[in-house]
Amino acid sequence: MDTIPMRDPERPEARLLRAATFAARVHATHKRKGASAEPYVNHVLEVAAILAAHGAPEEAVLAGLLHDTVEDSDKDPDPITHERLVAEFGEVVAGVVAEATDDKSLPKEVRKALQVRLAPKKTDAAKMLKLADKISNLRAIAASPPAGWDHARRLEYIGWAGRVAAGLRGVNPALDVLFEVTYREAVARLAQEA
Ligand code: ZN
Repeated sequence: MDTIPMRDPERPEARLLRAATFAARVHATHKRKGASAEPYVNHVLEVAAILAAHGAPEEAVLAGLLHDTVEDSDKDPDPITHERLVAEFGEVVAGVVAEATDDKSLPKEVRKALQVRLAPKKTDAAKMLKLADKISNLRAIAASPPAGWDHARRLEYIGWAGRVAAGLRGVNPALDVLFEVTYREAVARLAQEA
């Protein structure tokens, strides 16, 4: 994958769009799991937009754009590594992405339990990123659930997201409120279908 040339000093909006372009290229062939199979990049743009709109620091917004590039490119011909993110976006942003990346060598249930347990130990930027990620995922589960996800499985996901979020609260009150509203809406929507 080509690198977009950087100019020194790079303006913040140039860096932001470079990260968005980087993410769009990495996720070019990836789709969301939902029935509407949205382009994956829509998700990372939404996460970054939520962070930017709620006063998150620049490194959190940039990490929002990049947060799934390592985890979701492992089967690609040119997988994105932590080192690559460090080279392109610096230690701080790459570090926040690393905090939000699951260890895919572990079984899914272990990864999910670890997300709950490790949430309170994350840096503030990573907590905000993970909260915005869960907000985007809860919206997607409510609006366009993955094919084959029955009521029980969606309910289980929403409950788990709530348990992870409990450990992420307290660093950004506006995001905490948005999570709460989104969580309640997802539960209400599912209850209607029952
Ligand atoms: Zn995500």
